[in-house]
This record gives sequence, structure tokens and C-alpha cells, in this order.
Amino acid sequence: MLLPLLLWGATMHEQKWPEGETYLEYLEHHALPLKPLYYDLDKEDQKLTEEIITGVRYQTLEDGNGTIEQVLIPVNDELQLHLYRDRAGAYACEILPIISETKRESFTITIESSPYNDIIAATGSTRVAQAFVSGFKNSLNFRTDLRKGDPLVMVYEQKYRMGKPFAEPKLEVAMIEMRKKRHYVFLNSDDRYYDEKGREIEGFLLGRPVQNARISSRFTKRRFHPVLKRYRAHLGMDYAARSGTPIHAAGSGTVVFAGVSRGYGKVIKIRHSDGYLTLYAHQKSFRRGMVAGKRVKKGEVIGYVGSTGLSTGPHLHFGLYKNGRAINPEQVVQVTTRKLGGVQLQAFEQTKENLSREVDLYLAAAQRPKKFAFIDTFCYIDSETCQQVPYKEEVLNNETL
Ligand SMILES: [Zn+2]
Repeated sequence: MLLPLLLWGATMHEQKWPEGETYLEYLEHHALPLKPLYYDLDKEDQKLTEEIITGVRYQTLEDGNGTIEQVLIPVNDELQLHLYRDRAGAYACEILPIISETKRESFTITIESSPYNDIIAATGSTRVAQAFVSGFKNSLNFRTDLRKGDPLVMVYEQKYRMGKPFAEPKLEVAMIEMRKKRHYVFLNSDDRYYDEKGREIEGFLLGRPVQNARISSRFTKRRFHPVLKRYRAHLGMDYAARSGTPIHAAGSGTVVFAGVSRGYGKVIKIRHSDGYLTLYAHQKSFRRGMVAGKRVKKGEVIGYVGSTGLSTGPHLHFGLYKNGRAINPEQVVQVTTRKLGGVQLQAFEQTKENLSREVDLYLAAAQRPKKFAFIDTFCYIDSETCQQVPYKEEVLNNETL
């Protein structure tokens, strides 16, 4: 379906999503019809609207009279809500992929003050610096063991949208040499990080929020539903369990929200250290005393499994967020002690060898970083081209490539 647009006098605005505003409130504030734009969405899509992040940049296209023609609102770094007016002037909402290109980038620098500061100075990106530093967290002491002139190498993936970087960089390998000894962090094929000895690097480890429960739905940022012919996302993990089963705090932290939302029903959010937040939805009831500000310990019971909100049966929807972005809890939830052995260890050794060889090459070539005028945010449409190219057509064309 193509959507021809008459864009004479049209203007594009980019704004930041206001703190605490729900999608429904947004529609009301802009006098947009709730009926097709929210109530006609199915349950899963309605829930997805609750994933809009405070501060995320979204774009609005208005015609010469100030009528909203299109709005693009991201729900993660893969999918966005697209509100638009069709030819007859009626509004509709659909979920579209954010088309992006992933590039592998690498650089080596030598230490002047600290890895964090030096990477920011060299690349202009705090996110790249964070990715490097958090890779070595808990394992090295940069403060005491690092000397001026020590080299570091970093290889990572960065997504680009219309030439601009967006979303978090993904670390593939990091190396820092201190006192002539090299220390590495490798991304393994299981999507977890290991040191040069094949030991998993422990970041933030979560406990299971429900004991002995079956995982009924896994995390996915974007998948295409072949029957519905639509894009879906599931930004958490579902644990099927009997109504009333206790829910445990996956980590120690502070309750920042204990209340009701339309989609997630009775929901608790807990803030942890290092920018992590966990979410426990569809609860039957909360444990007494679970209010915002309450400190909880890992493993403590916070509530009970139920089916409140837009839920089809008793289960816990468990979400994990890092700096406001949904990430896959399975990468962080402690399953068992993870020691690579046998075939897995052999495969890791191969990955390690390939990546170390690459590090050697960059080190020898003194590969300089490229400096971005870094836009540490989502970015979807270019305001200039948007006024000339029907956005939807462009999306469809790209998607078939
Ligand atoms: Zn769920």
C-alpha cells in the first residue's frame, strides 16, 4: 500500500516525549481519536504503547493548517508506532520497523587520563565509553594499574539510521594493556561476555522472579508475524504460573512504582544499581508495604502472580531495562553457574582467537577512532527528506532490499 502525500506547506517537528505521559494522554492532548488509534489496536499492540520511553525523540508531520498528518514514535530501537491520516482523512496506527544499517567499528587509543574520558574525547560518545568500561567492570582496577600511554582497542557494532548513529553500541571485543599484560572481554556466540580464560564476566546478575515456572514467551525486539502480517515485539519474558504464586524481586533495589496501568495491570517497578530497572506485571496483588520508595532485597517476595491488565491468563510479565531501554532478561538472569566446557569451550576458543587476531591488527595499524557529532538517541526520519519523500513508500522499498 502506498500513501501519497501532499506535503505543500507541511512541517516536521521533533520533540521529546514528556516525562510520565502515557500514549492515551498524548492522544488526548493532541485531540487525536482514541478509538482507532488505541482502542482498535489488539492487546499486544496496546501493551507496546506502554513501552514509550520518557525523553525519546518522536517526529510529527503537520500540514499547513496544523493538522497532524503523521507521527512516528519509537517503542525500542527496532520498532516504531506510525500514526497517519489516510486519504479519506481518517487516522490509523500501525507498527513499522525502524530501518537501520549496522556497522562494525573499531579503534585503538592510548591512555591520557582514563579509558572512559579518553574514549569520549576520541569518539564523542559517552555510550561507546560506557560499553567499554562496563565490559571490564569488577575485574580490573584502572585507577591503580593503568599508566599513561597504555593502549586499548575496542570493536563494536553501531546502528545507523539515515547516516546518524542511534541505539546502544554493542561491544564485540575490548582489550586493554596494563603493565604489559593484556586483558580482554569477548562477546561469545551465546551473547554473553567472557574473559580470556573463558570465565563469564559477571555484570548485574538477577535471580529468577518466579520459582519453577515455565517460560511461556521470550523476549523479542522485533519479529514479523507471518499470519497477521504485522510487526510485533515482546519486551520481556513471560513466566506461566498458577494465580497466587509468589513473585520475588530479581535483584536488590528500590520500588519506584507500585500501581496500576491499563496494559500491565497491577505492576511494580524496581530500580537497581547501574541504570537497571525491573518490571513485574499482571500481578494479582502486591505484598503489603510495596509502595514507591520501599527498599527490597534480592529474592524478597513483592507480590503474587495474576492476570490483571491486558492478560490472557495468569502469568508474570517480567521486563528488564537498562538506562530506560528494554533488554533481554535471559542475558542477565542467572540460570546456573556458567562455565564453558567441552564443545562450547572449543567454540569459544575459536571466537577468542579470531577476535584477538583482529585486536592485534588494529593495534599494529594504530586504527584511529572516527569522531561523531554523536546523537545519542533514536533517530528515524530525516526532517529534510521527509518533506519530499513519502515516508511509507521509502520504508517499504528499503524493507524489500
Ligand atoms: Zn509478556
